[in-house]
Amino acid sequence: MMTNQEQVEQGRHYVMNTYGRLPIALVRGLGARVWDGDGKEYLDFLSGLAVNSVGHCHPKVVKAIQEQAAKLLHVSNLYWIEPQNKLAQMLVENSFADKVFFCNSGAEANEGAIKLARKYAKKRWGEEKYEIITMEHSFHGRTLAALTATGQPKYQEGFAPLPAGFRYAPFGDLEALQKVMGPQTCAIMIEPVQGEGGVNVAERSYWEGLAQLVKEKDVLLIVDEVQSGMGRTGKLFAYENYGLKPHIMTLAKALGGGTPIGALLASDEVADAFSPGDHASTFGGNPLVTAAALAVMEVLLQDGLVKHCQTMGAYFQEELKKLATRHSMIVEVRGLGLMLACQLNREGASIVSSCLQKGLIINCTAGNVLRFLPPLTIQSQDIDQAITILDEVLTEAGKG
Ligand SMILES: *Cc1c(COP(=O)(O)O)cnc(C)c1O
Repeated sequence: MMTNQEQVEQGRHYVMNTYGRLPIALVRGLGARVWDGDGKEYLDFLSGLAVNSVGHCHPKVVKAIQEQAAKLLHVSNLYWIEPQNKLAQMLVENSFADKVFFCNSGAEANEGAIKLARKYAKKRWGEEKYEIITMEHSFHGRTLAALTATGQPKYQEGFAPLPAGFRYAPFGDLEALQKVMGPQTCAIMIEPVQGEGGVNVAERSYWEGLAQLVKEKDVLLIVDEVQSGMGRTGKLFAYENYGLKPHIMTLAKALGGGTPIGALLASDEVADAFSPGDHASTFGGNPLVTAAALAVMEVLLQDGLVKHCQTMGAYFQEELKKLATRHSMIVEVRGLGLMLACQLNREGASIVSSCLQKGLIINCTAGNVLRFLPPLTIQSQDIDQAITILDEVLTEAGKG
């Protein structure tokens, strides 16, 4: 086994420099815990960025992967694939959608959503209605159309020319959204809880108004649930929290429990805009990843994890609010389910490093927002341990 230092040096030498990485290598995981190259243990409150929602190496997921790997890893989508069919059925039976397309990532699912919305719009309304409105501080991925949909200029700088046909509105502001919409608008694409943009939550009245607007103006509603989906917010899909009825939904991150899979879901009416040849992905929905995702879905639904997420989310949020009363550095606690955050009155990177030193993995997004995405299997004593470490770290940082 290589030490942290050896792996850091090797990586710096050979891997393209696109991530601001912390100087450890994680080599093993179990449940809510991971271990680094030097054997140090950490409590994982990031879950591989909302991926390992059923915990690391869940036995049912490991078994499904092992069995499928020994049976059939990959076949082309020129043939029907049993675990892919089953997963599609399970997603459809548990959501608004009628049909599913599988791909390999969140960005790719959003690319598919953009293509589907445009294709549907052209068929239904003609060439003039093609524009997609997305939100400021949104995040939809790093491929060219997805980063154009992403309403944060910092992700777009240096990559012009960007695809045309996107406009932006401030998240949570109905009046502003109405002003940005025009006869050329075919869809609104939105995260039910903004993840990378700072774990931003909008009021219920906003979502009611948005649903009304979608109906009145006859446009498509695309929900990007790449981060908020699969039980993370205390509902299987976050749109359920607001009584929304989307036309299109994208999933990835937690869907495959750590195997790379994304999905694009739609109502029959919208999905019918695609015909053979319109969209494809070689690996999309292959036997291995769909067998893993099936196991993840079964764990989520059969083990009552979505309900558990509500309970643990409420407890964690309450504990974070208590922490905020002791540390003036925390200006707001917010989020939904186990997608939670503390906004600080200063940059959060050094807090993340200090937590890591004390054995707690968290993340900082939007500069000053500490983000918590523990596995949905988390227990209250793990939350207590995380709060103790945060309390110590914030106390020390407050003195400095
Ligand atoms: C992470 C994320 C994406 C991009 O997913 P990738 O798998 O990294 O391409 C898209 N949308 C949202 C909301 C995300 O959180």
